Amino acid sequence: TIMVGGAVAALSEVWGELQRAAGATERLVELLTAEDTVKDPATPKTLAQPVKGTLQFENVQFHYPSRPSISALDGINLDIKAGETIALVGPSGAGKSTIIQMVQRFYDPQSGAVKIDGMDLRDLMRGDFRKHIALVPQDPVIFADTARENIRFGRPTATDAEVEEAAKAAAAYDFLMALPDGFESYVGERGVMLSGGQKQRIAIARAILRDAPILLLDEATSALDAESEYAVQRAVEELARSRTTLIVAHRLATVKKADRIIVLEDGKIVAQGTHDALVAQGGLYARLARLQFTEGVAAE
Ligand code: ATP
Repeated sequence: TIMVGGAVAALSEVWGELQRAAGATERLVELLTAEDTVKDPATPKTLAQPVKGTLQFENVQFHYPSRPSISALDGINLDIKAGETIALVGPSGAGKSTIIQMVQRFYDPQSGAVKIDGMDLRDLMRGDFRKHIALVPQDPVIFADTARENIRFGRPTATDAEVEEAAKAAAAYDFLMALPDGFESYVGERGVMLSGGQKQRIAIARAILRDAPILLLDEATSALDAESEYAVQRAVEELARSRTTLIVAHRLATVKKADRIIVLEDGKIVAQGTHDALVAQGGLYARLARLQFTEGVAAE
């Protein structure tokens, strides 16, 4: 019965999310697959409006429930200003994706706190703060529907003109117009197959419509074709401009443009600063910059 209760609770959460119609596809997929490890508070507080979008990690200590012996995050302190663009870099397993997950409160730290605008996420309803976060995943979900509806999913009340504006800002307009039926073309399953870079641009257009003060972006690791590479780069810059942005960065062009780069290793912040300052310091970042980042055409 406990399991049935959990399933019902999870379903009602998804249903609530659908009804609010505020979430992007990714949110639903995450909700459907996420372990139910956290609970909304009995007496929730509310974020002051308008939400500024500052983020704080205070002495965050975290291990995944299934792996208690490994600290995924080990004493993380981060103070991110509203509007700041942060690039998270580091070797595989360093904790980059874990930080992105903690901001959405898919897990709670074993000690320390994660805060939005100074408020502990554990004191807020998840639906209340998640609507202020837009997520652009590495491999966005594309529905078997028209390109137009796929973008509109970012904000179901958006007009056709707003959908097209968002597509322009996301550098998706031209490639969509070039499809046989333009914005009315079927994409996704049994429709036009989109490249990785095109899918990311659809996800960016959704995020633009969502218009949240906080943006979480997981850059594609795989090389994109040159045109997509440049277009995605421009679209991300546009989207990040007026928002607090956390990017799991794999591109040299991205880290160069970030206000601050956070270098992670074994769940710890081992260095931070701008690209030039970190390269000058040598060490792990300089090695990563030489070996790991994809150059891409936008990198010059
Ligand atoms: P990558 O570049 O490979 O994506 P990352 O820097 O994003 O790596 P994380 O995915 O945050 O690293 O992983 C941090 C640590 O937590 C690693 O030791 C990883 O094996 C572990 N980990 C990540 N996800 C889970 C999970 N769902 N369950 C258990 N352990 C996990």
